Amino acid sequence: MAANKKLLILPGDGIGPEVMVQVRRIVDWFDKRRTVGFDILEYPVGGAAYDRHGTPLTDEALSEAMEADAVLLGAVGGPQYDTVPRDKRPEAGLLRLRKEMDLFANLRPALVFDALVDASTLKREVVEGLDILILRELTAGVYFGEPRGIETLADGTRRAIDTQSYSEEEIRRVAEVGFELARKRGNRLHSVEKANVMESGVFWREVVTALHAERFHDVELHHMYADNCAMQLVRKPKQFDVIVTDNLFGDILSDCAAMLTGSLGMLPSASLGTEDETGRRRAMYEPVHGSAPDIAGKDMANPLATILSFAMMLRYSFGLGEDADLVEQAVQNALAAGCRTRDIVGPGMEPVSTTQMGDAVLAELDRLAA
Ligand code: NAD
Repeated sequence: MAANKKLLILPGDGIGPEVMVQVRRIVDWFDKRRTVGFDILEYPVGGAAYDRHGTPLTDEALSEAMEADAVLLGAVGGPQYDTVPRDKRPEAGLLRLRKEMDLFANLRPALVFDALVDASTLKREVVEGLDILILRELTAGVYFGEPRGIETLADGTRRAIDTQSYSEEEIRRVAEVGFELARKRGNRLHSVEKANVMESGVFWREVVTALHAERFHDVELHHMYADNCAMQLVRKPKQFDVIVTDNLFGDILSDCAAMLTGSLGMLPSASLGTEDETGRRRAMYEPVHGSAPDIAGKDMANPLATILSFAMMLRYSFGLGEDADLVEQAVQNALAAGCRTRDIVGPGMEPVSTTQMGDAVLAELDRLAA
């Protein structure tokens, strides 16, 4: 058996710790089967770290995150921290973590499970069997570009400025991840920008095209304008396999794609950094949802988004695609057997608790591995 993987778990606030308990049970299941073993460290983050240490991210937790093979985060935040100074808020800890780890590639799959087809607002035939992946550049673009600000002009009127800026390297490295992901999936990549009206879009297209010719000509590449992409996502989403796009368009398009699947409690994500000299890539996996203070502590939260984030970790950090498939299949089976937490319950169904959903996934893992 290969060396243990070093996994840092940051449960965070609200429902974070509850859903993470269910993931720990699945990690233990893999540990017992000895297909993959984990050395686990756990630290508070967000509000939980602020309460204990006066900071949402301790230097020790950050240093462990930099060293870990992968980080799994629950969620951070809660209304009790609304009055805390901005740099001490739970979200500040998360942003620092993403920045220090240089997590530039954000992966959000939109996968429609058969049992949940009717949870989508779109027609069954449009979303049935949908499996797409949105790759958003996360550390550059208009959210970070300079100059920015609101200024008063000489005539006394005011104006606001944001700057969209992308270097060749910033585009290349995220496009590279896009091509590599496409190769592992349906071998099709849509690169999305607004080359018709933005210089950064013209440049984005140029860089992606050159990279394609250089190293990825086996992958089917399409260029699409972002507005068309938004339209196509709701018109005919199954035409896509992997979509790579910038920070701003990715923010919007990934939320749009996520909602094709119907529920926040089902959505995993991964954020990847650059490879170091040894080929190791820093990575953090987390559900898309927040800390859901309204249901925290009630054993009602859906743990599947975090469990599916763990499956993404198996696939993307550890190259354990078959084990990832196993977890995803166990989730699929638990849902098909009618196991639903309150957020995804159908008419006439009795909701299960967070713990019962964990039980169901584990039972399916046992069955699939038997
Ligand atoms: P939220 O995602 O926490 O909750 C939105 C709604 O979805 C709530 O009604 C909640 O009960 C429900 N929900 C979310 N996850 C669920 C799950 N797993 N199972 C069942 N229902 C679920 O978003 P919000 O209410 O806007 O934010 C609450 C807090 O979370 C805020 O402090 C916000 O800043 C923080 N937040 C954190 C992250 C993160 O840690 N990455 C992301 C978003 C929001």
